[in-house]
Formats: sequence, structure tokens, C-alpha cells
Amino acid sequence: MTNEEVLEIFKECKALLKGHFLLSSGKHSDSYLQKSMVLQYPWHAEKLCHALAEKTRLLGAQTVAAPAIGALIIGHEVARALGMRSIFTERNKETDAMELRRGFTLEKGEKVLAVEDIVTTGKSIKECIGVLRNYGANVVGVGCLVDRTGGEAAKLFDIPLLPLASLKVESWEEKDCPLCKQGIPVVKPGSRAKF
Ligand SMILES: [Zn+2]
Repeated sequence: MTNEEVLEIFKECKALLKGHFLLSSGKHSDSYLQKSMVLQYPWHAEKLCHALAEKTRLLGAQTVAAPAIGALIIGHEVARALGMRSIFTERNKETDAMELRRGFTLEKGEKVLAVEDIVTTGKSIKECIGVLRNYGANVVGVGCLVDRTGGEAAKLFDIPLLPLASLKVESWEEKDCPLCKQGIPVVKPGSRAKF
């Protein structure tokens, strides 16, 4: 799938929102990717993840791992396309630390593909990779649906980052935000039921 084909699905599903948003990084932006608007349609999830699976197949992974909750569907669909196990890390509600739970295990040296939905700061997926490595896994690469930094995110990782699509989204610190200067109210995505 080309970059345009992927982003077209996001647009079609009204997942590419325009407005004034407070991102999880604390920065402000005029765009937001509401990936759940796409993933609510299993046929879109299947198609996108199948393409991502093909893109990452050469890494030779044996297992797919994703950080919950955000990347659960992606991890599952990519693993289905590659015919391998899908496991996930999740946050401990008390300590906020990422953990492998529910009886999931990894062999020493097991080749694992880490999968994320949208990469911006890479915080969750890097924590996920840290957990996998603590189990002795060989994390061979990161696959994601969208690199929202337009290519900058590759520098965040010491292994290959393979995004299905890349999109450069402008973001600013609050003090530099042109939308704040225009007096437009800022919205935290996900905090409202309807856009
Ligand atoms: Zn702002």
C-alpha cells in the first residue's frame, strides 16, 4: 500500500481530525489521528495490518508483541497475517510500569517484532521493547501504521522502524502555539465522545 492509500483510509473514516488539540506529549497541534475511527472497521484493520505484515516479514520475527491497549488490534492482525503468536505488554495500574502478564513468556533469543499504531514520541513502544529485552528476546524491529513525525521517529530506535505510512503533523509548545494566539479553545482528543 502507498502512503496515499493508507492516509486515504484515515480520511475516509474521519480519523484525520483538524482542529486544536492537546497531544499526550503536552504539545499543541492542528491535526490528530483518531486511529480507532479506522480500526472500528475490521476490514480496514485487516487490510492495513496485512500490508504492514508484508513490509516487516523480511525481519524474520517469530512472535509479534504490542503495547496494550492502543496497539492490541494491530498486533493481533499483523500476527494473524504472519501466522505467528501475538502477545502484549500492559501497564501495571499501581506502578504504571509496562509488564508482560497473563502467562505470556518469551524464549531467550526469540525474534520479536514490536508493533505500534502511531509513533510520535515512541514512549509506549520503547517501554514495551524494554520489557521484551528483559526477557531475553531479540527485538528485530518496530512496525507501525503511521509515523506521525514524517521520518524523524526512526532516530528514536536502535532497531529498524518500518512504518506503513508517514505523515508530518505540526505541533508546538503551548507558548508558541498559533491556535492559542487566535483564542481557539484546545481539545484533548478522546475526552469528548463526539467530534
Ligand atoms: Zn494551542
